[in-house]
Amino acid sequence: MGDTVAVIGAGQMGNGIAHVFAQSGFDVTMIDVSDDALERGRSTIASNLDRQIKKGTLQAADKDVILSRVRTANTLDAASEASLVVEAATENRGLKFKIFSDLDRIAAPGTILATNTSSISITEIAARTTRAENVIGMHFMNPVPVMQLVEVIRGLATSDETTTRVLELSKAVGKTAVEVQDYPGFVANRILMPMINEAVYCLMEGVGTAESIDTVMKLGMNHPMGPLALADLIGLDTCLAILEVLHEGLGDPKYRPCPLLRKYVAAGWMGRKAKRGFYTY
Ligand code: NAD
Repeated sequence: MGDTVAVIGAGQMGNGIAHVFAQSGFDVTMIDVSDDALERGRSTIASNLDRQIKKGTLQAADKDVILSRVRTANTLDAASEASLVVEAATENRGLKFKIFSDLDRIAAPGTILATNTSSISITEIAARTTRAENVIGMHFMNPVPVMQLVEVIRGLATSDETTTRVLELSKAVGKTAVEVQDYPGFVANRILMPMINEAVYCLMEGVGTAESIDTVMKLGMNHPMGPLALADLIGLDTCLAILEVLHEGLGDPKYRPCPLLRKYVAAGWMGRKAKRGFYTY
């Protein structure tokens, strides 16, 4: 297809995004400030490819070809060649604003600057650049190689051309895209996070144990995972950051983050990635 993709951030989302683009034939540069994260990101891609081979959804011979399409770099300058940038760094406004103002300087004219943010305003991120028409939300779901959806979020100034291209690129990596507008939490997290937050309130108030709350939602509502196990998978710091955005952006007290969630984050119990959250791993 000729497109080269730069993925900013090699964490759980970044390496998943790099994985699906490389598997679909794109050359990918995965960029992170942490060399450790880059190394972990590459080895996660390799072990996820092994899992696909075991399941029979990938030929063993394809693994090395896919891995050879993923290069790594530790500075944003490596994004200068890309025709698509997907930013998947830590969920923090100041950090994303800085990355996008740097990308505005670094990226070639016409490059699509997409962000995988869970909740931060696409319009505000775009305003940090001189090319808001090329800035868009491309919100993959976790785990990226497995989940079907990409939520495509149009900022106020995002052009039709950018949107159409991102819808095509989502399809090119085997995903189903849904276009939504830029309001706090978009659709996915506007609905998911209040449910997770309510589950944490149930735990704090002793309505149930983590296991019983999750079992009610799995067996009673047919959810594949309970909300507390899902929060651990997403990362409790990320859940808290998203709830703060909903609370501030929508101004309704119903979005206030549960104090127990704040306490876990303060303790460093971030979920699976810290080996401890509502469960221990
Ligand atoms: P993570 O903590 O696993 O990874 C974040 C990575 O960003 C780290 O490796 C960190 O070193 C890197 N980073 C920090 N500053 C950077 C910079 N200036 N330049 C380059 N890299 C930098 O986080 P994650 O769960 O992968 O989340 C990444 C993004 O994806 C966030 O915006 C998050 O809201 C969004 N997201 C997360 C999920 C989820 O389930 N975790 C789902 C959808 C979207």
